[in-house]
Amino acid sequence: MKKIAIIAHDGRKPEMVHFLKENEEVLTKVALIATGTTGTHVAKAGYEVEAKLSGPMGGDAQIAAMAAEKQLCAVIFFRDPLGKHPHEPDVQMLMRICDLYNIPLATNPASAGFMLKGMAAMGEV
Ligand code: PGA
Repeated sequence: MKKIAIIAHDGRKPEMVHFLKENEEVLTKVALIATGTTGTHVAKAGYEVEAKLSGPMGGDAQIAAMAAEKQLCAVIFFRDPLGKHPHEPDVQMLMRICDLYNIPLATNPASAGFMLKGMAAMGEV
């Protein structure tokens, strides 16, 4: 099963839960990996999920390591563009790693929706 990581900063978690419901058809066909608190929301929405540490405690860094090891086929990262985050260096690192290894990365629901549709159309998931 292909693995997709999903992360949402606190200000974006309601949108993320909505996104999970809207994209159930594709998302139930993949294994979901999430940072800690995001993972709790993903599980509550009815999905199986492998939860890593909470973002500020190193969860983004764990997901970046998985991306570097080519274990992820995509990363969905609903960042909060209005908030300040103590783990901003980890956020930047995760995005850099995705760019370095050419891993599809979507940072808002509109692009994530297109990304999943594209992956499904190409038989990637
Ligand atoms: P969280 O972390 O899922 O534990 O809230 C997300 C983040 O802030 O990167």
